[in-house]
Amino acid sequence: MKITFPHMGNQYIGTKVLLEELGLDVIVPDACSKETLNIGTKHSPESICLPLKINIGNFIESIRKGADTIIMIGSCGPCRFGYYSILQKEILKEIGEQVNIYLLDAPQGDYKKFFSGIFELANTKNPFKIIKALYRAVRILYQIDDLEKIAYYKRPRQKEIGAVDFYYEQLHKDIRNVYGYKAISKLIKQAKKNILSVEEDPDKEVIKVGLIGEIYTIIEPSVNLHMEKRLGEMGVEIHKSLSLSKWVTEHLILHPLKLTREKKVWKAAKPYLKTMIGGHARETVGYGVLYAEQGFDGLIQVYPFTCMPEIVAQSIMPRIEKEYDIPYLCLIVDEMTGEAGFNTRLEAFVDLLVKRKEQKTSEELLLRY
Ligand code: SF4
Repeated sequence: MKITFPHMGNQYIGTKVLLEELGLDVIVPDACSKETLNIGTKHSPESICLPLKINIGNFIESIRKGADTIIMIGSCGPCRFGYYSILQKEILKEIGEQVNIYLLDAPQGDYKKFFSGIFELANTKNPFKIIKALYRAVRILYQIDDLEKIAYYKRPRQKEIGAVDFYYEQLHKDIRNVYGYKAISKLIKQAKKNILSVEEDPDKEVIKVGLIGEIYTIIEPSVNLHMEKRLGEMGVEIHKSLSLSKWVTEHLILHPLKLTREKKVWKAAKPYLKTMIGGHARETVGYGVLYAEQGFDGLIQVYPFTCMPEIVAQSIMPRIEKEYDIPYLCLIVDEMTGEAGFNTRLEAFVDLLVKRKEQKTSEELLLRY
């Protein structure tokens, strides 16, 4: 059995660790590219949201490399993610791809079903092996998310543009060539050391932007056109509302136990959006408010064209922009998104934030003297 899975930012690292620690033969999906999207777009319904199209592209690319089994995470809920696994199965069947599909539903309180899916997949009855593999996969996600935060801090301050990404990109190349938790963890630790050692320019003015929106577009760099790198090089330190380690902790551990760490976020969203409407719309609104309260210089919302929950969140954001006096930019991406236009909008927004900050600083100085 050669097993593959959909690509979503750094999730491939955690999933690679999980499957390798379970002793499975893994075909890690290629990093998403224009070609991945083209393949997915060709075989998907036109109006379906972008992540599904890219997933289909991932599967077909991995099947061409020899994968015969796909593992997918299932879900239920008010947005289209609930139908992803069923639709993807149908699409692959229709185009004649002969693959086995393992659907792992997030536990929703039923850990027995969740674990029996993994027992079957790993062909083992040993619960310790599974718990150890899961624990190590989650640990890796925390390590890589920590590294990301260091990169967000360092990019806008680096003396030599590209220094952070030299180490960051090397890490991704190296991870594909090693096996299992220990080797990957060692690489991440080394990358952390290297990135921390990148020389900073003490005179650089850094502005802070909260990145909110749909999880796939926030996390997968190919669909947000490597926004975090572009912004970092423009002198922007970003903070993302969603991360993989957070998602896994919430959905695989806390939600089934009826617990959450997002109460504060939901409370912040409540005056504008009282309930969960699917996707992460409530988190988009809640984090928008929290970032504004924390004095961030601006907010950027990013989501795939036709994403229903984020359209609702977008309709709310102008109120937050006005009430908290914080500039807000919304970027919607799909397979037609052009790099030049996207970049121009980012640059114009960052220029506006820089000017506003300069103006604020001079007003504060005037008041002081
Ligand atoms: S959150 Fe949006 S983009 Fe993601 S599956 Fe739901 S509708 Fe599609």
